[in-house]
Amino acid sequence: MKSELRLLIVETSAAEADSLLQALRGQGVEVAGTVVSTLSAMREALAAADCKAIICCHPVAGCPAATALALAQELRPDLPFIVLAREPSLELAVGLMKLGAHDYLPVDELPRLGPALERELRDAAVRRRQVIIENRLHESYELFRAIVENVGDLVAVLDTEGRRVYNSPSYRPLFNERDIRRGSSSFAEIHPEDRERIRSVFRKTVATGIGECAEFRFLLKDGSIRFMESDGRAIRGVDGKVSKVVVVSRDITDQKRLEAELREMAATDMLTGLPNRRHFIGQLEQETARVHRDGEHSASVLMIDIDHFKRVNDSSGHVAGDQVLRHLSATMRQELRRVDTAGRLGGEEFAIILPGAALADAELFADRLRRKVAETAAMHDSRELPVTISIGVSEIRATDAGAEDVLGRADRALYRAKESGRNRVVVEA
Ligand code: GH3
Ligand code: MG
Ligand code: MG
Repeated sequence: MKSELRLLIVETSAAEADSLLQALRGQGVEVAGTVVSTLSAMREALAAADCKAIICCHPVAGCPAATALALAQELRPDLPFIVLAREPSLELAVGLMKLGAHDYLPVDELPRLGPALERELRDAAVRRRQVIIENRLHESYELFRAIVENVGDLVAVLDTEGRRVYNSPSYRPLFNERDIRRGSSSFAEIHPEDRERIRSVFRKTVATGIGECAEFRFLLKDGSIRFMESDGRAIRGVDGKVSKVVVVSRDITDQKRLEAELREMAATDMLTGLPNRRHFIGQLEQETARVHRDGEHSASVLMIDIDHFKRVNDSSGHVAGDQVLRHLSATMRQELRRVDTAGRLGGEEFAIILPGAALADAELFADRLRRKVAETAAMHDSRELPVTISIGVSEIRATDAGAEDVLGRADRALYRAKESGRNRVVVEA
């Protein structure tokens, strides 16, 4: 059995109200009624009884329909409000419907009341669900804002074409409001070298619904670069299709800078600032590979060792020795072209790669460097610390297996330079 539906009936006569309920029961609607004939009674009834709809007869002297409607809208705007007019007029109908009545029936159409009531109850249920949904929507939007507006990360909501739907406030310190306006392309601020790659990551996320992590750079209006690490996530609509992509990006510029510094430190000799042995050998491997690839390309290597360096340390001290090492490094840097690479292999041993130089050119360069070092002494405590160097030279060969081969030949040549009196250049062809 269907449960009884309680109606609030605005009516002067209890008998009339009763016949109204009888008529509804005759139309198959199980109803009970709370009958009121004044506004104050209506107010009390709305507060006390669990009414599901209001049937307002018109006219009721103590409670005109328009006033009853206003009270209903104030206290229970969710309840269907149906006017039953004993003295129907078009004017009255239009007036009340405009004020928000849900339906209007002349009394001689009473047989329509049952279906009208049921329809209005269904509509009211839909409206209630709508309100619940809107509330939930509002809550989740507020929640979303509370989260994204309070994290340092950059949060962007994009449509499936990559156009901006939302950017969190954390974008503002980096971009002009105009550049990140709704509807603009989110790829525009990405560094041109990264743009296509990120565009294809984005397309893949839209196509597969599976998000991906990516690193890229923002190129800001002032020309500066920010390194970003981002995570995209596809958002699906109720139809299951990807409708939006949420991209959360983190500024990793400081981290990148630190990594670069560490890499630089790991590759650099602290005393002289030159590439250290490991880094130098790496460079030499690359140069050897280039000679392998390109039969036209020649390159030579110099091995350099300070003559009687031990004496400098012994007579002037280790600090003075260090000063000589720094001075020699500076002299080498001055003599090198941009394409050349000098490295400190260890102690007072250095090496230089001369890309594009065949053996004869390398020998000329080596001799110029040797003379320059002999002519310009380092200074320490206002004292000159003259040194000379011996140099072994060899050219990289296409048959060399690796860097160690050419270094071995240059080292043998260096040994002969020492053997034959120092302060000289010896080549090994
Ligand atoms: P040779 O002409 O045969 O090369 O003689 P040398 O004295 O230069 O040869 P040796 O290899 O015997 O001596 C190298 C010296 O270099 C020994 C070591 O104390 C010194 N040395 C190595 N690294 C450093 C450094 O970083 N600073 C200073 N001050 N001296 C160093
Ligand atoms: Mg030595
Ligand atoms: Mg030496």
